[in-house]
Amino acid sequence: MKKGLLIIYSGPSGVGKSTILAEVLKNEDLNLAFSVSMTTRSPREGEQNGVDYFFVSKEEFEEAIKNDEFLEHAQYVENYYGTPRAYVEKMRENGKNVILEIDVQGGIQVIEKCPDAVSIFICPPSIEELRKRLTGRGTEKEEVVNKRVDQAQREIMTSKIYKYHVVNEVVEDSVNTVVNILKNEMGA
Ligand code: 5GP
Repeated sequence: MKKGLLIIYSGPSGVGKSTILAEVLKNEDLNLAFSVSMTTRSPREGEQNGVDYFFVSKEEFEEAIKNDEFLEHAQYVENYYGTPRAYVEKMRENGKNVILEIDVQGGIQVIEKCPDAVSIFICPPSIEELRKRLTGRGTEKEEVVNKRVDQAQREIMTSKIYKYHVVNEVVEDSVNTVVNILKNEMGA
């Protein structure tokens, strides 16, 4: 069986990447598996353990680092996030195209380790628009929004290493663009 693709999918917080991805994941032709990350951040309302993330303590996360369980891991704003390696490997061996929704620090680590990975970066139309979306979401305090905007500016600068860049103006168009990128890569 052909090994599945490894797909790195990134973009600044608030850019709409989860909304786009939720639609992309519905497309069964793409044969995708979503890699559930581990994080030390607290769950947001509606988030489920084992579905959105594996929510763990800092001690548990550090133990997993020590045991070399991560394909990549990074500190983002004030929390740790990491991709458990075992699931990714198992699903790819089963022919699934595994998608990692991770930040740019993690994306760079994976691109360096796996040069054949497909990397997609979702960009905001502008930084002002991103701030508006983050504030409108209302899930983070102003101070955290500011940190996420600063982080976004750094991420956009380092995103040049990604193979594909999709500017998210209209969600439906971005979904189609991502689907087409993946279809092309699957045929390649
Ligand atoms: P959030 O707290 O909004 O869910 O995620 C914050 C950032 O961390 C997002 O850019 C998200 O893509 C990223 N992220 C989520 N999981 C991982 C992971 O396993 N590794 C890395 N490096 N970043 C992650």
